[in-house]
Amino acid sequence: MRRILLGLAAALALLIAVVIGRTLMVPVSKPLPPRETSAFDADTVANHLAEAVKFRTISWQAGAPAEDIAASQAALTAFRTWIETTYPNVAKSLSREIVGDYSLLYTWKGSDAALKPILLMSHMDVVPVVPGTEKNWTHDPFAGVIADGHIWGRGTLDTKQGIIGMLEAAEALIAKGFQPKRTILFAFGHDEEIGGTNGNAKIAALLAERKVELEFVDDEGGMIANGALPGVEGPVALVGVAEKGSLTLEFAAKSAGGHSSAPPAVAETAIGRLAHAIEKLGNNPPFESGLDETTRATVTGMAPATGFVRRMASANLWLLEPLVERAMRASPAGAAQLHTTIAPTIVTGGVKDNVMPPEAKARVNFRIHPRDTVDGVVEKVKRTLDDDQIDVAPVGGGRDPSPVSDMGGEQYAFIKRTLEAVRPGVIVVPTLVIAGTDSRYYFGLTKNVFRIIPAEIGEGDLQRIHGTDERLSVASARQVADYYYALMSTMDGQKAP
Ligand SMILES: [Zn+2]
Repeated sequence: MRRILLGLAAALALLIAVVIGRTLMVPVSKPLPPRETSAFDADTVANHLAEAVKFRTISWQAGAPAEDIAASQAALTAFRTWIETTYPNVAKSLSREIVGDYSLLYTWKGSDAALKPILLMSHMDVVPVVPGTEKNWTHDPFAGVIADGHIWGRGTLDTKQGIIGMLEAAEALIAKGFQPKRTILFAFGHDEEIGGTNGNAKIAALLAERKVELEFVDDEGGMIANGALPGVEGPVALVGVAEKGSLTLEFAAKSAGGHSSAPPAVAETAIGRLAHAIEKLGNNPPFESGLDETTRATVTGMAPATGFVRRMASANLWLLEPLVERAMRASPAGAAQLHTTIAPTIVTGGVKDNVMPPEAKARVNFRIHPRDTVDGVVEKVKRTLDDDQIDVAPVGGGRDPSPVSDMGGEQYAFIKRTLEAVRPGVIVVPTLVIAGTDSRYYFGLTKNVFRIIPAEIGEGDLQRIHGTDERLSVASARQVADYYYALMSTMDGQKAP
């Protein structure tokens, strides 16, 4: 007995030693201040971004008033002209094509036609300000105010900062006589916020028609978090290597209807049946949940920026993965990384207090994890509901999740090196993007699709995206320009001027 106890104690001691040992092997990152050297004057970059914000390039949902849509179209055209006059070197040295009436495709021809082009993306359109919330803004969302070290307004984070960064970089490089070896393309979509079907979908089709193959794509989707994520000491650059798919299903529950004075059991009314179906699905989600290759790389990659307990867990996923998953599941944002999510978004049914409707409908939006598919979601939901009185039908086609880009390739390594050069002390981590981006249109042209515009955001800034008080620090606007400058000028062994 004593021997067994001793053996157990020894095994436990060994286990603890291994867990602690692995934890101590993770280097602890040192948060450093941003780089001081830059090819840019920060105020100039900030002023240009502030001017760009003033163009109300709002994407309205279908069915919006015609005058609103016309105003946005006029703003897109004016913004296009502003780009031409503000960046004369770009206008002179790059060729510009207008695609789908408003989207822009710029080509900066490289000297070596044998090299595949790269495509840098950032969209020109922005989401509207929710009516009634204008007064909550510290500064008018379309005035382009610079105050307290920040540029304020719609599009400063999503994503005019990317457009300005690319244009500043190209403008400065041309002024210095730089000529890229490899062709560089810029794609500025005009309808990303409403699906991108007239913008990047058409640009991608045009490039496919020309048989263009891309070395890599870099789009929005990831940023540099510096205090923006709880428990993570920044700066951490999140590079999207995959993005979730999306599908909306409509559930239609039928029943006899009739006068409310003599109802059947609630569960047999259309509304009762519908409510039960949604609850059943929520209580029995039919989708696998857990870390996959991408999210595991996120967790282990972030370890150096976390405190001891999280570092210990991340360094010992072989033992503690279930605990890590449980902690992630505790927050909606963490849970969204682990599985296909279920969100009821619209309910309709009934028109009068005393009449039971013969039909009640709900729309449920699913954000599809890379391990699932559109078809798989439909099938699993039907199987879970298991109710022939409820019709389940997709709204539109939905879209499958993206393939996962290669994190081990030279293209990812180049982006990582560039980020490290531009932002001292940064940890570069691959991530799963839970929203959709226009980069999905380019999967046919390359398998290297990455998603980062390295604007740096801090505590509470995530809510500003599509929300109130969207803003970007002046230093960060310059950092974005620095990134594209380094990216474009150091490819293929070239030296930045
Ligand atoms: Zn966006």
